[in-house]
Amino acid sequence: MPASHEKRRTFAIISHPDAGKTTLTEKLLYFGGAIRMAGQVKARGEKRRAKSDWMKIEQERGISVTSSVMTFEHKDLIFNLLDTPGHEDFSEDTYRTLTAVDSAIMVIDASKGIEAQTRKLFEVCRLRDIPIITLVNKCDREAKDTFELLDEIQETLALDLSPMVLPIGTGSNFHGCFNITNGDYYTSETRGEAFDKIVETTGFDDEKLDELVDGQLLEEAREMMELASIGYSEFDLESYQEGHLSPVIFGSALKDYGPTALLDLIAEIAPMPRSAPSTIRTVTPDEKKVSGFVFKVQANMDSNHRDRVAFMRICSGDFKRGMKLRQVRTNKDVMVHSPIMFFAQDREVVHGAGPGDVIGIPNHGTIRVGDTFTEGENLQFTGLPAFAPEILRRVRLPDTTKVKQLRRALEDLAEEGLTQVFKPNIGSNWIIGLVGILQLDVLKSRAKAEYGVEIDFEPLTFNMAVWLKCEDDAKLKTFISANAGNVVHDREGSPVFLAKSQWELDYTKERNPDIIFMKTRELV
Ligand code: GDP
Repeated sequence: MPASHEKRRTFAIISHPDAGKTTLTEKLLYFGGAIRMAGQVKARGEKRRAKSDWMKIEQERGISVTSSVMTFEHKDLIFNLLDTPGHEDFSEDTYRTLTAVDSAIMVIDASKGIEAQTRKLFEVCRLRDIPIITLVNKCDREAKDTFELLDEIQETLALDLSPMVLPIGTGSNFHGCFNITNGDYYTSETRGEAFDKIVETTGFDDEKLDELVDGQLLEEAREMMELASIGYSEFDLESYQEGHLSPVIFGSALKDYGPTALLDLIAEIAPMPRSAPSTIRTVTPDEKKVSGFVFKVQANMDSNHRDRVAFMRICSGDFKRGMKLRQVRTNKDVMVHSPIMFFAQDREVVHGAGPGDVIGIPNHGTIRVGDTFTEGENLQFTGLPAFAPEILRRVRLPDTTKVKQLRRALEDLAEEGLTQVFKPNIGSNWIIGLVGILQLDVLKSRAKAEYGVEIDFEPLTFNMAVWLKCEDDAKLKTFISANAGNVVHDREGSPVFLAKSQWELDYTKERNPDIIFMKTRELV
């Protein structure tokens, strides 16, 4: 029997909004046997969304922010699909989610090619050497030429590609897809309908295909297969697992082309849970003792319970319900009574979980993003980034009797990663920092709906924020007092420099060569 960590495949889907992530998620859950009917991901999401005002905003703007973990068993393996919010305004949360996966599926719209958000998320995967399987989606619609797409992906991302499943025709001429690795032809009984038939062939020259594909198209497709198999890299497991090469499947999530091939491929090649770096040593998934880190905290998931859920990725050991774990930052032991796992249709209290799994720990605000839990060892997992905000505002509170509610709202929402909160050295109003402008509206309406506090925002003359670091504490102190009007502190007490422009930042850097100005900061 494989050890528990060998059975887990923990992955996320990265894509630009509208490329088909939700559709693919539903189909993976459906073909993975987790749900009876496709369409339930959205239905559930909508039910949950209706509960809270801020979620209405998302609904109106057609953005899905309900992010969670979906676990299902398939082919004797446990698949954990971590959902990442798709809109670029929520990228910080998305980036952090990517620290908790071992591989990713990159979905690309066949008519659009590489889009901005795909590229950003790909860069995050590359930084962490996360292996990627590519799905070129929507082949049932008019699409770019297959080679043009492959070359575009290969060149823009500097990534070797190994095409495995290629389309035969696209748009109204879409016949199906051909698997060049095993000769399977995926098609449908009735042209244009969903995938419902596999024809096994001896290869692309097999005469069976002559009866199934129109003559002219078949000729072109045969030529394409030939070129595709010689013009691109051969699949190499090591190169894929190191993040240098991506196998490519062309398909249509809507018409069921792709999801089953992806599930098979993940089962076959996607890496099992990896080792995790920490402040003192690297923790391997086969270690007996339980350890994990929190990559996300979500407040008010359910308006009936004001609790929050901290999402912890287990890095090692077999976790059991009721276990006592040490929260390393506070050096306190926490009894995990009701760990939650998330299934397609429900969330349930679970009795056990293994490396690669994500459990939700309900808490009253004591657990933070970046927290490490162990069975007592004093180590902290590293590598969870905080990003320099691009939008800064001063928070105005018209009703000054509500200071307490404001503090609570800002702290909770900062905990979730929706905003960053800074305390100025001079003056007393909070300053918030955001990565996307849409978050201002979300912050405002959540503060009102969930904490009963009306807030406004005032623009600042500053529009850049960077963290400060210096080997020499005394020099840092001198810098801070000389620039008191520009320096604020984040929630952890780390100093942050605010600048009006890139020019001011560069100028300050030049004059203070001993100070390091950082665009990202590791939370640990
Ligand atoms: P997301 O924003 O990436 O989650 O994208 P969705 O899954 O919500 O899909 C966006 C739109 O594209 C929806 O209208 C889907 O029905 C449609 N769509 C998704 N996949 C396909 C596909 O393979 N073919 C076609 N024709 N439409 C698709």
